[in-house]
Amino acid sequence: RPFGYAIVGLGKYAINQILPAFGECQHARLAGLVSGDPQKARKVASAYGVPEKNIYSYDNFDDIRNNPEIDAVYIILPNALHADFAVRAFRAGKHVMCEKPMATSVGDCQRMIDAARRASKQLMIGYRCHFDPITQRAIQTIRAGKLGKLRAVTTENTDVLSIDDPSGQWRVKRSLSGGGSLMDLGIYGVNGARYLLNEEPIEVSAIRAESTNPVFHEVEDIISWTFRYRSGALAHGNSSFTAAATSRFGIQAEKLSGMLNPATGYYNNRFETVAGEETHILSDPMFQIPALNQFSAQLDHLPDVLGSGKPSLATGEEGMQDIRLIQAIYQSAATRRPVSTDWGDWRRKA
Ligand code: NAD
Repeated sequence: RPFGYAIVGLGKYAINQILPAFGECQHARLAGLVSGDPQKARKVASAYGVPEKNIYSYDNFDDIRNNPEIDAVYIILPNALHADFAVRAFRAGKHVMCEKPMATSVGDCQRMIDAARRASKQLMIGYRCHFDPITQRAIQTIRAGKLGKLRAVTTENTDVLSIDDPSGQWRVKRSLSGGGSLMDLGIYGVNGARYLLNEEPIEVSAIRAESTNPVFHEVEDIISWTFRYRSGALAHGNSSFTAAATSRFGIQAEKLSGMLNPATGYYNNRFETVAGEETHILSDPMFQIPALNQFSAQLDHLPDVLGSGKPSLATGEEGMQDIRLIQAIYQSAATRRPVSTDWGDWRRKA
């Protein structure tokens, strides 16, 4: 039978992106719901054919241990709640898919990784871009050497936060979000720099803008960072909660420059390479992908990894490395000094 997920948290991303994506899954199905709002849970359950007995609250969530229809839980809650729910899910003997950012501290990331190991269960982070065909195509093109040696990557991830919306309100509360635009949007640039350059930075410098807007009293609005690499390359990122939506990765390389724009959108991402006056668009309309494709591919990846034993593209270690780098960015911005991130041999395996 298909692999059963229980979705924890029925907010915007769960309702609008993840639940509809089950329709296109090959190996995964929606098996359960965990919500603090029983009325909403019943409504969603009836829309998706989830039986009433597979609806849980945050309080009786641990009872999923007795439900063999649920193989994994997918945590789509505010960031600071990810770690505790992941640990509870592992204790209940389930695999875990957890939204980005993995957690709000490196200690919590380690706690999740340790709990997975103790339970002998898989922990995967919801890095959907790794399953986006355009991103995969860009990575393959770079790894095949078509652009030549990469010299620098620039990343921009911005969006105007809607503070009137509940999903905007927890994002500006440090205790729930762990940080501002960097935790929410800039993380795509941090992760993207790592998968494009296929190298870990050895030093981080960062600067944070002062905001006079009381909304950004607890967390940052605009923050910029630079990663320095042993190979001589640099990566740069900028994120903001008060600039209109951008999601762009520029790739400066010895033979060809490249651009992913949008780089991390839900659909219709685009990759082009530029040599002199010639532009090659590797994502012309022929290759436009169905809107939900990357979400379904991400949901299918966990059962695929479990069944085939092939390496996961989005491990807990992968998620923790981004949180370690994000913490180094915050440290550099606070101290106004570069921070060493030369943490030995840890390297992402592409
Ligand atoms: P949201 O506010 O719409 O949903 C959060 C859900 O958690 C709501 O149903 C809310 O009721 C519930 N919740 C439980 N306890 C809560 C508490 N103490 N405070 C506030 N809400 C509580 O937010 P969202 O945009 O759906 O984001 C949820 C998670 O998904 C975040 O970790 C976010 O980073 C991630 N996300 C990922 C992507 C992506 O593209 N991968 C996109 C959007 C959001």
